[in-house]
Amino acid sequence: MDNVTVIDHPLVQHKLALMRKKDTSTKGFRQLMREISTLLCYEVTRNLSLDPVQIETPLMTMEAKMLSGKKLVFAPVLRAGVGLLEGMLDLIPSARVAHVGLYRDPETLVAVEYYFKSPHDLADRLVIAIDPMLATGNTAVAAIDRLKEHGARDLRFVCLLASPPGIENFHKYHPEVHVWAAAIDPELSEHGYILPGLGDAGDRLYGTR
Ligand code: URA
Repeated sequence: MDNVTVIDHPLVQHKLALMRKKDTSTKGFRQLMREISTLLCYEVTRNLSLDPVQIETPLMTMEAKMLSGKKLVFAPVLRAGVGLLEGMLDLIPSARVAHVGLYRDPETLVAVEYYFKSPHDLADRLVIAIDPMLATGNTAVAAIDRLKEHGARDLRFVCLLASPPGIENFHKYHPEVHVWAAAIDPELSEHGYILPGLGDAGDRLYGTR
């Protein structure tokens, strides 16, 4: 599949298996989401560009390397995307955050917007959209639409689980946006749930079911 990376790191796969288990508690699920998001963040930022900078060590001057450009932006899709945010901020504490409030209409599975707040200069920053489940792809498409409307041009998308039709739908609208996922599950239920999946990520994170 073009423009998709499956993160098959053993720690990611182990934590994902624990998250899938129906007996994992809300507390455990939330903790695992935070841990796994740090690992996903490590992978999605693997090819960031670096600039040479002159620094002073206690012993001498040297040319070191530091991230180039402006601070990047994490864009969690509310509400489940917030579960992936803190672990990413643990790794990149100076990142900016754009909140994208979308919910899936349970009948039509169409994404409906209810909130959007981002830094004003999205055009100058790498924007990493985050949502645990890329199911039908409708929410992901809408999130990227909104971020582009606000100027974002350099975008990546990170999720835990994706479905093949979801990825296809997403890339029909945003072919240039690379997707990182911990796994691609084979099926979608008629209600738009990923199978075998892990259930409703928001409900499992916040104990709302
Ligand atoms: N959203 C979820 O939380 N879970 C799914 O399986 C699909 C969409």
